[in-house]
Amino acid sequence: MYSKNKIESFVNHSPILENISKAKPVSWLNPDLKSMGKTPEFSIDKEDMREAEQLWERFAPFFVKAFPETEITQGILESPLREIPVLQSLLNENKVDIKGRLFLKCDNELPIAGSIKARGGFFEIMRYAEELALKSGYLKKGDDYSVLTSSTFKTFFRRYKIGVGSTGNLGLSIGIISAKLGFEVTVYVSSDAKRWKKDLLRDKGVTVVEFEGDFSKAIFAGREKTKADPNAYFVDDEDSQDLFLGYTIGALRIAQQLKTQNITVDAKHPLFVYSPCGVGGSPGGTAFGLKQIYGDNVHCFFVEPTHCPAVLTGLVTGEMSNISVQDIGLDNKTEADGLAVGRPSHFATKISKHLISGIFTIEDAHLFRLLAQLKDTENIFLEPSATAGLIGPQLMQKTNYAKTHQLNLENATHIAWATGGDLVPADERHLFYERGSQQLSLI
Ligand SMILES: *Cc1c(COP(=O)(O)O)cnc(C)c1O
Repeated sequence: MYSKNKIESFVNHSPILENISKAKPVSWLNPDLKSMGKTPEFSIDKEDMREAEQLWERFAPFFVKAFPETEITQGILESPLREIPVLQSLLNENKVDIKGRLFLKCDNELPIAGSIKARGGFFEIMRYAEELALKSGYLKKGDDYSVLTSSTFKTFFRRYKIGVGSTGNLGLSIGIISAKLGFEVTVYVSSDAKRWKKDLLRDKGVTVVEFEGDFSKAIFAGREKTKADPNAYFVDDEDSQDLFLGYTIGALRIAQQLKTQNITVDAKHPLFVYSPCGVGGSPGGTAFGLKQIYGDNVHCFFVEPTHCPAVLTGLVTGEMSNISVQDIGLDNKTEADGLAVGRPSHFATKISKHLISGIFTIEDAHLFRLLAQLKDTENIFLEPSATAGLIGPQLMQKTNYAKTHQLNLENATHIAWATGGDLVPADERHLFYERGSQQLSLI
Protein backbone atom coordinates (compact mmCIF):
# COMPACT_ATOMS: atom_id res chain seq x y z
CA MET A 1 0.00 0.00 0.00
CA TYR A 2 2.93 2.35 0.73
CA SER A 3 5.61 2.88 -1.90
CA LYS A 4 9.28 2.58 -1.06
CA ASN A 5 9.62 6.33 -1.52
CA LYS A 6 6.81 7.02 0.86
CA ILE A 7 8.37 4.85 3.57
CA GLU A 8 11.72 6.57 2.99
CA SER A 9 10.11 9.94 3.46
CA PHE A 10 8.66 8.75 6.80
CA VAL A 11 12.17 7.68 7.87
CA ASN A 12 13.66 11.00 6.81
CA HIS A 13 11.06 12.81 8.80
CA SER A 14 11.39 10.52 11.86
CA PRO A 15 14.82 8.86 11.98
CA ILE A 16 13.76 6.58 14.87
CA LEU A 17 11.73 4.67 12.29
CA GLU A 18 14.95 3.25 10.94
CA ASN A 19 15.57 1.31 14.17
CA ILE A 20 11.88 0.49 14.54
CA SER A 21 11.83 -1.07 11.08
CA LYS A 22 14.93 -3.15 11.97
CA ALA A 23 13.15 -4.52 15.04
CA LYS A 24 15.61 -2.85 17.41
CA PRO A 25 14.41 -1.91 20.91
CA VAL A 26 13.61 1.79 21.06
CA SER A 27 12.38 4.41 23.52
CA TRP A 28 10.08 7.01 22.02
CA LEU A 29 8.67 10.08 23.75
CA ASN A 30 5.42 11.39 22.31
CA PRO A 31 5.71 14.92 20.85
CA ASP A 32 1.90 15.14 20.65
CA LEU A 33 1.30 14.62 24.37
CA LYS A 34 -1.14 17.32 25.49
CA SER A 35 -1.90 18.76 28.89
CA MET A 36 -5.34 17.78 30.12
CA GLY A 37 -7.79 20.48 29.13
CA LYS A 38 -5.72 21.18 26.02
CA THR A 39 -6.48 17.98 24.15
CA PRO A 40 -8.86 18.01 21.21
CA GLU A 41 -12.38 16.96 22.11
CA PHE A 42 -12.66 13.18 22.24
CA SER A 43 -15.75 11.21 21.25
CA ILE A 44 -16.09 9.93 24.82
CA ASP A 45 -15.83 11.67 28.19
CA LYS A 46 -15.95 11.17 31.94
CA GLU A 47 -19.71 10.76 31.84
CA ASP A 48 -19.35 7.75 29.53
CA MET A 49 -16.99 6.26 32.09
CA ARG A 50 -19.52 6.77 34.84
CA GLU A 51 -22.20 5.07 32.76
CA ALA A 52 -19.85 2.21 32.03
CA GLU A 53 -19.26 1.79 35.75
CA GLN A 54 -23.01 1.67 36.37
CA LEU A 55 -23.45 -1.01 33.75
CA TRP A 56 -20.86 -3.12 35.57
CA GLU A 57 -22.81 -2.58 38.79
CA ARG A 58 -26.12 -3.63 37.22
CA PHE A 59 -24.48 -6.85 36.06
CA ALA A 60 -22.90 -7.69 39.44
CA PRO A 61 -25.85 -9.94 40.49
CA PHE A 62 -25.57 -11.74 37.16
CA PHE A 63 -21.91 -12.53 37.81
CA VAL A 64 -22.59 -13.81 41.33
CA LYS A 65 -25.17 -16.23 39.96
CA ALA A 66 -23.42 -17.24 36.73
CA PHE A 67 -19.86 -17.38 38.10
CA PRO A 68 -19.98 -18.31 41.80
CA GLU A 69 -16.26 -17.53 42.20
CA THR A 70 -17.25 -13.83 42.06
CA GLU A 71 -19.53 -14.13 45.08
CA ILE A 72 -16.83 -13.01 47.54
CA THR A 73 -16.56 -9.66 45.78
CA GLN A 74 -20.33 -9.39 45.24
CA GLY A 75 -19.98 -9.81 41.52
CA ILE A 76 -17.43 -7.03 41.06
CA LEU A 77 -14.48 -8.19 38.97
CA GLU A 78 -11.25 -6.67 40.16
CA SER A 79 -7.60 -7.56 40.65
CA PRO A 80 -5.12 -6.64 43.38
CA LEU A 81 -2.44 -3.96 43.19
CA ARG A 82 0.71 -5.46 44.73
CA GLU A 83 4.01 -3.85 45.58
CA ILE A 84 6.92 -5.90 44.20
CA PRO A 85 10.00 -4.72 46.13
CA VAL A 86 12.00 -7.91 45.69
CA LEU A 87 11.81 -7.72 41.92
CA GLN A 88 12.57 -4.02 42.15
CA SER A 89 15.83 -4.76 44.00
CA LEU A 90 16.74 -7.41 41.48
CA LEU A 91 16.11 -5.07 38.55
CA ASN A 92 18.18 -2.40 40.30
CA GLU A 93 21.18 -4.72 40.22
CA ASN A 94 21.53 -4.13 36.53
CA LYS A 95 22.24 -0.55 35.61
CA VAL A 96 19.55 1.94 36.60
CA ASP A 97 18.19 2.21 40.15
CA ILE A 98 14.42 2.57 39.98
CA LYS A 99 13.51 5.68 41.95
CA GLY A 100 10.24 5.48 43.89
CA ARG A 101 8.11 2.39 44.50
CA LEU A 102 7.23 -0.35 42.02
CA PHE A 103 3.80 -2.01 41.90
CA LEU A 104 2.15 -4.64 39.75
CA LYS A 105 -1.51 -4.34 38.72
CA CYS A 106 -2.37 -8.02 38.74
CA ASP A 107 -4.97 -8.37 35.99
CA ASN A 108 -3.59 -11.87 35.51
CA GLU A 109 -5.76 -12.57 38.57
CA LEU A 110 -8.97 -11.09 37.15
CA PRO A 111 -11.71 -13.67 37.75
CA ILE A 112 -13.12 -15.88 34.99
CA ALA A 113 -10.96 -14.75 32.05
CA GLY A 114 -7.55 -14.39 33.76
CA SER A 115 -6.62 -11.38 31.67
CA ILE A 116 -7.33 -7.70 31.12
CA LYS A 117 -9.77 -8.77 28.38
CA ALA A 118 -12.26 -9.47 31.15
CA ARG A 119 -12.64 -5.69 31.34
CA GLY A 120 -13.15 -4.71 27.70
CA GLY A 121 -14.51 -7.97 26.33
CA PHE A 122 -17.04 -8.62 29.07
CA PHE A 123 -18.18 -5.01 28.95
CA GLU A 124 -18.94 -5.03 25.25
CA ILE A 125 -21.01 -8.22 25.52
CA MET A 126 -22.87 -6.98 28.62
CA ARG A 127 -23.73 -3.80 26.78
CA TYR A 128 -25.09 -5.71 23.77
CA ALA A 129 -26.98 -8.23 25.90
CA GLU A 130 -28.57 -5.47 27.97
CA GLU A 131 -29.61 -3.57 24.86
CA LEU A 132 -31.29 -6.66 23.41
CA ALA A 133 -32.97 -7.58 26.69
CA LEU A 134 -34.28 -4.06 27.31
CA LYS A 135 -35.63 -3.82 23.77
CA SER A 136 -37.40 -7.14 24.12
CA GLY A 137 -39.26 -5.88 27.18
CA TYR A 138 -38.17 -8.89 29.26
CA LEU A 139 -35.79 -6.75 31.30
CA LYS A 140 -35.93 -3.35 32.97
CA LYS A 141 -32.93 -1.39 34.20
CA GLY A 142 -33.99 -1.62 37.85
CA ASP A 143 -34.34 -5.42 37.75
CA ASP A 144 -32.09 -7.87 39.50
CA TYR A 145 -29.88 -8.93 36.58
CA SER A 146 -29.42 -12.43 37.95
CA VAL A 147 -32.57 -13.17 35.92
CA LEU A 148 -30.29 -13.12 32.89
CA THR A 149 -29.15 -16.59 33.92
CA SER A 150 -32.70 -18.00 33.56
CA SER A 151 -33.63 -20.41 30.78
CA THR A 152 -36.00 -17.78 29.34
CA PHE A 153 -33.10 -15.46 28.68
CA LYS A 154 -30.80 -18.23 27.49
CA THR A 155 -33.40 -19.15 24.88
CA PHE A 156 -33.82 -15.49 23.99
CA PHE A 157 -30.08 -14.83 23.53
CA ARG A 158 -29.75 -18.07 21.56
CA ARG A 159 -31.43 -16.28 18.65
CA TYR A 160 -28.42 -13.96 18.36
CA LYS A 161 -24.87 -14.57 17.30
CA ILE A 162 -21.59 -13.04 18.38
CA GLY A 163 -18.40 -13.04 16.35
CA VAL A 164 -14.89 -11.95 17.27
CA GLY A 165 -11.46 -12.17 15.70
CA SER A 166 -8.73 -12.86 18.23
CA THR A 167 -5.28 -14.30 18.82
CA GLY A 168 -6.40 -15.65 22.15
CA ASN A 169 -7.36 -13.68 25.23
CA LEU A 170 -10.07 -11.54 23.64
CA GLY A 171 -11.57 -14.67 22.13
CA LEU A 172 -11.45 -16.34 25.55
CA SER A 173 -13.23 -13.53 27.34
CA ILE A 174 -15.86 -12.94 24.63
CA GLY A 175 -16.36 -16.68 24.18
CA ILE A 176 -16.77 -17.44 27.88
CA ILE A 177 -19.25 -14.68 28.70
CA SER A 178 -21.24 -14.97 25.47
CA ALA A 179 -21.64 -18.73 25.80
CA LYS A 180 -22.71 -18.27 29.44
CA LEU A 181 -25.45 -15.84 28.42
CA GLY A 182 -26.65 -18.23 25.71
CA PHE A 183 -25.38 -16.53 22.56
CA GLU A 184 -24.20 -18.57 19.62
CA VAL A 185 -20.60 -17.42 19.54
CA THR A 186 -17.85 -17.88 16.95
CA VAL A 187 -14.22 -16.96 17.56
CA TYR A 188 -12.05 -16.44 14.48
CA VAL A 189 -8.41 -17.08 15.31
CA SER A 190 -5.14 -17.08 13.44
CA SER A 191 -3.81 -20.60 13.01
CA ASP A 192 -0.87 -19.87 15.31
CA ALA A 193 -3.19 -19.26 18.29
CA LYS A 194 -2.33 -21.54 21.22
CA ARG A 195 -3.87 -25.00 21.17
CA TRP A 196 -5.03 -24.85 24.80
CA LYS A 197 -6.92 -21.62 24.18
CA LYS A 198 -8.79 -23.16 21.25
CA ASP A 199 -9.53 -26.30 23.28
CA LEU A 200 -10.78 -24.33 26.25
CA LEU A 201 -13.14 -22.36 24.02
CA ARG A 202 -14.53 -25.43 22.28
CA ASP A 203 -15.01 -26.93 25.72
CA LYS A 204 -17.30 -24.02 26.63
CA GLY A 205 -19.43 -24.51 23.53
CA VAL A 206 -17.75 -21.85 21.42
CA THR A 207 -17.21 -22.37 17.68
CA VAL A 208 -13.57 -21.77 16.75
CA VAL A 209 -12.67 -21.01 13.13
CA GLU A 210 -8.98 -20.96 12.23
CA PHE A 211 -7.33 -18.79 9.59
CA GLU A 212 -3.92 -18.92 7.98
CA GLY A 213 -1.99 -15.68 8.18
CA ASP A 214 -2.02 -13.06 10.89
CA PHE A 215 -4.54 -11.60 13.26
CA SER A 216 -5.74 -8.93 10.81
CA LYS A 217 -6.86 -11.64 8.39
CA ALA A 218 -8.80 -13.41 11.13
CA ILE A 219 -10.48 -10.16 12.10
CA PHE A 220 -11.29 -9.37 8.49
CA ALA A 221 -12.82 -12.76 7.77
CA GLY A 222 -14.80 -12.74 11.01
CA ARG A 223 -16.07 -9.25 10.39
CA GLU A 224 -17.29 -10.05 6.86
CA LYS A 225 -19.00 -13.22 7.91
CA THR A 226 -20.65 -11.78 11.02
CA LYS A 227 -21.82 -8.56 9.41
CA ALA A 228 -23.61 -10.47 6.67
CA ASP A 229 -26.04 -11.78 9.32
CA PRO A 230 -28.61 -9.28 10.71
CA ASN A 231 -28.88 -11.18 14.00
CA ALA A 232 -25.15 -11.20 14.57
CA TYR A 233 -22.86 -8.78 16.38
CA PHE A 234 -19.16 -8.41 15.71
CA VAL A 235 -16.71 -7.35 18.41
CA ASP A 236 -14.18 -5.36 16.43
CA ASP A 237 -10.86 -5.19 18.22
CA GLU A 238 -9.51 -2.83 15.56
CA ASP A 239 -12.17 -0.19 16.14
CA SER A 240 -14.29 -0.58 19.25
CA GLN A 241 -15.57 2.14 21.53
CA ASP A 242 -17.17 -0.34 23.93
CA LEU A 243 -14.00 -2.35 24.47
CA PHE A 244 -12.21 0.91 25.16
CA LEU A 245 -14.84 2.05 27.67
CA GLY A 246 -14.73 -1.29 29.44
CA TYR A 247 -11.00 -0.85 30.00
CA THR A 248 -11.38 2.64 31.50
CA ILE A 249 -12.95 1.18 34.64
CA GLY A 250 -9.60 -0.27 35.68
CA ALA A 251 -8.49 3.32 36.26
CA LEU A 252 -11.31 4.06 38.70
CA ARG A 253 -10.44 0.95 40.67
CA ILE A 254 -6.72 1.69 40.76
CA ALA A 255 -7.48 5.13 42.12
CA GLN A 256 -9.37 3.47 44.99
CA GLN A 257 -6.58 0.99 45.58
CA LEU A 258 -3.92 3.70 45.72
CA LYS A 259 -6.05 5.63 48.20
CA THR A 260 -6.48 2.54 50.39
CA GLN A 261 -2.71 2.06 50.39
CA ASN A 262 -2.22 5.74 51.33
CA ILE A 263 -0.39 6.55 48.14
CA THR A 264 -0.62 10.15 47.04
CA VAL A 265 -0.70 11.19 43.42
CA ASP A 266 -0.14 14.89 42.78
CA ALA A 267 2.35 17.25 41.15
CA LYS A 268 5.00 16.28 43.71
CA HIS A 269 4.12 12.57 43.63
CA PRO A 270 3.93 11.49 40.01
CA LEU A 271 2.29 8.24 38.96
CA PHE A 272 3.78 6.23 36.08
CA VAL A 273 1.85 3.45 34.40
CA TYR A 274 3.42 1.05 31.89
CA SER A 275 1.10 -1.17 29.85
CA PRO A 276 1.69 -3.95 27.34
CA CYS A 277 0.14 -2.86 24.07
CA GLY A 278 -1.42 -4.78 21.20
CA VAL A 279 -4.00 -2.85 19.20
CA GLY A 280 -3.83 -0.20 21.93
CA GLY A 281 -7.36 -0.62 23.28
CA SER A 282 -6.59 -1.83 26.78
CA PRO A 283 -3.63 0.47 27.46
CA GLY A 284 -5.46 3.35 25.76
CA GLY A 285 -8.61 2.80 27.82
CA THR A 286 -6.70 2.70 31.09
CA ALA A 287 -4.67 5.75 30.11
CA PHE A 288 -7.86 7.65 29.24
CA GLY A 289 -9.41 6.69 32.58
CA LEU A 290 -6.31 7.59 34.59
CA LYS A 291 -6.02 10.96 32.84
CA GLN A 292 -9.63 11.77 33.76
CA ILE A 293 -8.73 11.13 37.39
CA TYR A 294 -5.16 12.40 37.76
CA GLY A 295 -4.75 14.76 34.82
CA ASP A 296 -1.13 15.68 34.16
CA ASN A 297 0.09 13.92 37.29
CA VAL A 298 -0.17 10.51 35.68
CA HIS A 299 2.24 9.49 32.93
CA CYS A 300 1.21 6.59 30.73
CA PHE A 301 3.65 4.56 28.65
CA PHE A 302 2.95 1.65 26.30
CA VAL A 303 5.28 -1.28 25.64
CA GLU A 304 5.18 -3.20 22.35
CA PRO A 305 7.23 -6.12 21.00
CA THR A 306 10.04 -5.06 18.65
CA HIS A 307 8.46 -7.14 15.86
CA CYS A 308 4.93 -5.70 16.27
CA PRO A 309 5.10 -2.01 17.20
CA ALA A 310 1.68 -1.29 15.70
CA VAL A 311 0.72 1.79 17.69
CA LEU A 312 4.25 3.18 17.59
CA THR A 313 4.38 2.87 13.79
CA GLY A 314 0.96 4.52 13.45
CA LEU A 315 1.94 7.43 15.70
CA VAL A 316 5.50 8.01 14.47
CA THR A 317 4.44 8.09 10.82
CA GLY A 318 1.21 9.95 11.59
CA GLU A 319 -0.59 7.35 9.47
CA MET A 320 -2.44 5.98 12.52
CA SER A 321 -4.40 2.82 11.70
CA ASN A 322 -3.77 3.12 7.96
CA ILE A 323 -0.28 1.72 8.29
CA SER A 324 0.77 -1.73 9.46
CA VAL A 325 4.10 -3.02 10.77
CA GLN A 326 4.39 -5.13 7.61
CA ASP A 327 4.36 -1.91 5.60
CA ILE A 328 7.68 -0.94 7.21
CA GLY A 329 9.14 -4.39 6.64
CA LEU A 330 8.50 -6.13 9.96
CA ASP A 331 7.21 -9.71 10.19
CA ASN A 332 4.76 -9.16 13.08
CA LYS A 333 5.96 -12.31 14.82
CA THR A 334 6.17 -12.58 18.61
CA GLU A 335 5.55 -15.17 21.30
CA ALA A 336 3.61 -12.55 23.21
CA ASP A 337 -0.01 -13.56 22.62
CA GLY A 338 -2.21 -10.52 22.55
CA LEU A 339 0.59 -8.30 21.32
CA ALA A 340 1.02 -9.93 17.89
CA VAL A 341 -0.77 -7.10 16.23
CA GLY A 342 0.18 -5.47 12.94
CA ARG A 343 -2.27 -2.60 12.89
CA PRO A 344 -3.48 -0.40 15.75
CA SER A 345 -7.07 0.26 16.83
CA HIS A 346 -8.57 3.12 14.88
CA PHE A 347 -10.70 4.31 17.80
CA ALA A 348 -8.07 4.00 20.54
CA THR A 349 -5.13 5.46 18.64
CA LYS A 350 -6.89 8.76 17.96
CA ILE A 351 -7.20 9.23 21.72
CA SER A 352 -3.84 7.80 22.79
CA LYS A 353 -2.09 10.13 20.35
CA HIS A 354 -2.60 12.99 22.81
CA LEU A 355 -2.60 11.19 26.15
CA ILE A 356 0.38 8.88 26.22
CA SER A 357 3.84 9.96 27.25
CA GLY A 358 5.74 7.47 25.13
CA ILE A 359 6.28 3.95 23.87
CA PHE A 360 9.07 1.43 24.49
CA THR A 361 9.70 -1.70 22.47
CA ILE A 362 10.93 -4.98 23.92
CA GLU A 363 12.47 -8.17 22.52
CA ASP A 364 10.78 -11.50 23.14
CA ALA A 365 13.81 -12.87 25.00
CA HIS A 366 13.49 -10.02 27.48
CA LEU A 367 9.81 -10.83 28.12
CA PHE A 368 10.80 -14.36 29.10
CA ARG A 369 13.62 -13.13 31.35
CA LEU A 370 11.20 -10.86 33.19
CA LEU A 371 8.72 -13.73 33.47
CA ALA A 372 11.34 -15.88 35.23
CA GLN A 373 12.61 -13.01 37.39
CA LEU A 374 9.12 -12.13 38.61
CA LYS A 375 8.43 -15.76 39.45
CA ASP A 376 11.76 -16.12 41.28
CA THR A 377 11.42 -12.94 43.32
CA GLU A 378 7.70 -12.46 43.96
CA ASN A 379 6.31 -15.89 43.11
CA ILE A 380 3.90 -14.38 40.59
CA PHE A 381 3.33 -16.05 37.24
CA LEU A 382 2.44 -13.96 34.19
CA GLU A 383 2.12 -14.87 30.54
CA PRO A 384 4.99 -13.45 28.43
CA SER A 385 3.10 -10.45 27.02
CA ALA A 386 1.99 -9.39 30.49
CA THR A 387 5.54 -8.79 31.70
CA ALA A 388 6.29 -6.08 29.12
CA GLY A 389 5.42 -3.17 31.42
CA LEU A 390 8.19 -4.13 33.82
CA ILE A 391 10.84 -2.62 31.55
CA GLY A 392 9.14 0.76 31.83
CA PRO A 393 10.62 2.44 34.92
CA GLN A 394 14.26 1.98 33.97
CA LEU A 395 13.77 2.92 30.33
CA MET A 396 11.80 6.00 31.30
CA GLN A 397 14.57 7.08 33.69
CA LYS A 398 17.10 6.76 30.89
CA THR A 399 15.21 9.34 28.81
CA ASN A 400 14.98 13.04 29.59
CA TYR A 401 11.25 12.72 30.32
CA ALA A 402 11.40 13.45 34.06
CA LYS A 403 13.71 16.41 33.50
CA THR A 404 11.57 17.93 30.76
CA HIS A 405 8.46 17.62 32.89
CA GLN A 406 10.29 18.62 36.08
CA LEU A 407 9.26 15.52 37.97
CA ASN A 408 10.63 14.43 41.30
CA LEU A 409 11.17 10.71 40.87
CA GLU A 410 12.06 10.03 44.51
CA ASN A 411 8.33 10.24 45.25
CA ALA A 412 7.24 8.37 42.16
CA THR A 413 4.85 5.44 42.07
CA HIS A 414 5.41 3.06 39.16
CA ILE A 415 2.73 0.58 38.12
CA ALA A 416 3.48 -2.14 35.61
CA TRP A 417 0.15 -3.43 34.29
CA ALA A 418 0.26 -7.23 34.33
CA THR A 419 -2.31 -8.09 31.71
CA GLY A 420 -2.76 -11.84 31.89
CA GLY A 421 -1.62 -15.28 32.92
CA ASP A 422 -3.96 -17.18 35.20
CA LEU A 423 -5.54 -19.40 32.54
CA VAL A 424 -2.20 -20.64 31.20
CA PRO A 425 -1.99 -24.41 31.87
CA ALA A 426 0.76 -25.77 34.14
CA ASP A 427 2.85 -27.41 31.41
CA GLU A 428 2.94 -24.18 29.36
CA ARG A 429 3.89 -22.20 32.45
CA HIS A 430 6.77 -24.53 33.01
CA LEU A 431 8.01 -24.11 29.44
CA PHE A 432 7.79 -20.32 29.65
CA TYR A 433 9.65 -20.26 32.94
CA GLU A 434 12.37 -22.61 31.71
CA ARG A 435 12.87 -20.46 28.66
CA GLY A 436 13.28 -17.36 30.81
CA SER A 437 15.68 -19.06 33.23
CA GLN A 438 17.80 -20.27 30.36
CA GLN A 439 17.95 -16.74 28.96
CA LEU A 440 19.06 -15.47 32.36
CA SER A 441 21.84 -18.03 32.67
CA LEU A 442 23.23 -16.79 29.37
CA ILE A 443 23.85 -13.26 30.56
C1 LIG B 1 -4.89 -8.05 24.61
C2 LIG B 1 -3.77 -8.07 25.50
C3 LIG B 1 -2.93 -6.97 25.64
C4 LIG B 1 -3.06 -5.70 24.82
O1 LIG B 1 -4.35 -5.15 24.71
P1 LIG B 1 -4.73 -4.31 23.40
O2 LIG B 1 -6.09 -3.79 23.65
O3 LIG B 1 -4.69 -5.26 22.25
O4 LIG B 1 -3.69 -3.27 23.25
C5 LIG B 1 -1.90 -7.07 26.54
N1 LIG B 1 -1.67 -8.18 27.26
C6 LIG B 1 -2.47 -9.26 27.15
C7 LIG B 1 -2.18 -10.44 28.00
C8 LIG B 1 -3.53 -9.24 26.27
O5 LIG B 1 -4.30 -10.33 26.17
